Amino acid sequence: MSPEPAVRAEIVVDLAAVRHNVRALAAHTGTAVMVVVKADGYGHGMLPVAQAAREAGAQWLGAATLPEALALREAGDTGRILTWLSVPGESGLAEALAAGIDVTAHDEDGLAAVADAVRRCGTPARLQLKVDTGLHRNGCLPADWPELVAAARRGEVEGLWTVTGLWSHLACADEPGHPATAAQQAAFELALAQAADAGLRPEVRHLANSAGAILHPGTHHDLVRVGLAAYGLHPAPGHGPALDLRPAMTARASLAMVKRVEPGAGVSYGHTWTAERPTTLGLVPVGYGDGVPRHAGNRAEVSVAGVRAPLRGRVCMDQVVAEVPDHARAGDEVVLFGAAPHPTAQDWAEACETISYEIVTRVGGRFVRRWVGEQHEQEDT
Ligand SMILES: *Cc1c(COP(=O)(O)O)cnc(C)c1O
Repeated sequence: MSPEPAVRAEIVVDLAAVRHNVRALAAHTGTAVMVVVKADGYGHGMLPVAQAAREAGAQWLGAATLPEALALREAGDTGRILTWLSVPGESGLAEALAAGIDVTAHDEDGLAAVADAVRRCGTPARLQLKVDTGLHRNGCLPADWPELVAAARRGEVEGLWTVTGLWSHLACADEPGHPATAAQQAAFELALAQAADAGLRPEVRHLANSAGAILHPGTHHDLVRVGLAAYGLHPAPGHGPALDLRPAMTARASLAMVKRVEPGAGVSYGHTWTAERPTTLGLVPVGYGDGVPRHAGNRAEVSVAGVRAPLRGRVCMDQVVAEVPDHARAGDEVVLFGAAPHPTAQDWAEACETISYEIVTRVGGRFVRRWVGEQHEQEDT
């Protein structure tokens, strides 16, 4: 039954699932957990997810950008927050320091920018240093690391900041047995030793993303930074221990219309699919304007009244057509993706030749978002 009043298209985010996943990851790793809430909580809603993560015991929140980190503080979050992606001259750095947000430096220009912000806001920074152990995205190259840690130690002695953390990021942790992971672990350990030689005594050393947290215990150190797995999706489906992750996001809609077409009827723009027999088609009122990948056309499935319904023809801006059971009616619930036995974000990722990260993060547009499973007095486990 569809809820009252009928909803064209909505994203339902189960915060109890987020809490469950965070607790499962903490239990599995035995380390402190940072829940990464960048990109609007991977499309789940940054603030509700952040609150659920804290309720489940997340000691840290991870935000890519300064505005994300500041928004967490402005919403009242008082815990530790780390941010790592800004550009030279970007505003917000002094505000972040004043708000007690841990910031990341990747090179000596980054240290200079933090020093400048410290002088402007008068608050010593909580500074973390990132070493590039092989992802070759941001982070300090190993050749420059000894100088960076020495400079960071000088700034610490001067009282500009406390170096609270040392960290790096994995490139191939979702491929079990990929040699890059062991190489990155070794490079990280060398970088930690060099920082210790320079006199740095950080609170936290961290390397693992979700895949590291689930698959590579040697990457755990003091803290794991989990994004995808906290949302209940597996970074390497079929690999590693069974963790009972619960997908938090369900993308659903109501069928706008149902019609019966004759053999030979071409469907949607370009007629890339043609009915071979009398066929019942259901109109799903969402499209690429709502973040539904156009690549899903003729590939992904939705479920209608519990039955798998393959998409037929191209995804349009506002609409897409599915082949639905003959008993389907306008107004019936369509689940694009959610938890099994519905199609999952992972199923959609495979159909669209992408990753589940992209499926949940891009969906949005005119979907209305709704949160369920807020924490009540007696907590679930
Ligand atoms: C996004 C991100 C993560 C989380 O990665 P998942 O694979 O989603 O767990 C962790 N660390 C950094 C630096 C990130 O940018």
